[in-house]
Amino acid sequence: MTLQEISDAFQENKGEMLGGLLEEFIRTHLLEKHQQTRCDCPECGKLVYKKRDASRRIDTRQGSSLVERPYFYCPDCKKGFSPVDEALALASRKKQYDLQQLALKYLAEMPFEKAGELFEEATGVPFSDNRLHNLFAAFTDQMTIEDVIPTAEEIERRINSLTRTGNHRPILAVASDGAHMPTRPASNRKGKRGPGEYREAKGFRIYAIGKDDIVQIASWHQIQNADEFARDLHITAARIPQDKVRICLLGDGASWVWRCMEEAFPGARQILDYYHCMEHLHALADAQYGDDPDKALSWVIGAIGHIYYDETGQVIGGLRRMKPKNDTVKEQIRQLIGYLQNNRQRTNYGGARKGGYPIGSGGIESANKFICHTRLKRSGAWWLKPYGNGMLRLRCALVNGTFSDAFAKYVTRDQAKKYLRTNS
Ligand SMILES: [Zn+2]
Repeated sequence: MTLQEISDAFQENKGEMLGGLLEEFIRTHLLEKHQQTRCDCPECGKLVYKKRDASRRIDTRQGSSLVERPYFYCPDCKKGFSPVDEALALASRKKQYDLQQLALKYLAEMPFEKAGELFEEATGVPFSDNRLHNLFAAFTDQMTIEDVIPTAEEIERRINSLTRTGNHRPILAVASDGAHMPTRPASNRKGKRGPGEYREAKGFRIYAIGKDDIVQIASWHQIQNADEFARDLHITAARIPQDKVRICLLGDGASWVWRCMEEAFPGARQILDYYHCMEHLHALADAQYGDDPDKALSWVIGAIGHIYYDETGQVIGGLRRMKPKNDTVKEQIRQLIGYLQNNRQRTNYGGARKGGYPIGSGGIESANKFICHTRLKRSGAWWLKPYGNGMLRLRCALVNGTFSDAFAKYVTRDQAKKYLRTNS
């Protein structure tokens, strides 16, 4: 036998061998509990007698094991329980928490079918598509923004970990943006699906900037309206020690972006994303001087130079004097003037640079790409809104470093549910 063949043979029988060992270990470890014939009801404290043996098959990373458990029933509370469940903190599902946690990490990275396939290859335990969906829904449904965003203490710890330049407070960048997500309506009674549509996932990324390091504070993306986004940003802002940082807000021209950020971080420095601004200038130059690329480029360079040094008025004046090539360009000029006027307070890039602030929201765009697109924008994948949002919460928790805590909370809830499960 080659090593490969030996390893494969071990892999094949691992579940049986290790699962058996685990089974034996539990039997010895909980001998007293297995032999218990009387027990206090966890609800009312009344002494109740054992009803029967109710062994339960469980799956762990070691494989499959049979757990012996005496089963008790309190007639007053009409609730069944086993002290073995409590002692081992057994999950209500057959697949125990170690497998559930691993499966969720697989699901966060790849489609359900593929996740199930690789999961079984790695653990030797099959996890059906249907059960994976159930676990995913159960976990992500109970997960809220409060679980996904790090706690105030953790955020402060991350900010304090940054290297400082002299007495300057670190910069905290808050960047918001929308990304289009493929969604579909729920199937109707006949099982037919309506057409899919792209809906906006609104998101923010908050990161702190030290002398020569950047630390992730929080990412959050959901398919939701501007009011819901504003509420979520408020919840997050309340966890940030705003007096310990210099805050700057980054965004493009979308009005909901600025309204929400201003409300959550009043008085913060506002910076219009430099690259979005450049794009708008390029678009106009191409329309007006399309047949003369040199002229188009030199116009853009001149305009951005003025804007950079806070002379946006000069650019607006120039646009007003410009003789539009046609009516389309005329309208484009009108819109660009409006855009520059609306964002006039946000384009002092020279000043921002001097203060060490970032001037581009590349941070949010790469976060969008990483969190939303890589998992949710797969070809042919159209998401039901609650599932899409569940996936976004799961991925944000992994990026924010809050997944373990969120999972611990889910376990606590699952434990309470199981322990008081009625014997129906
Ligand atoms: Zn009772």
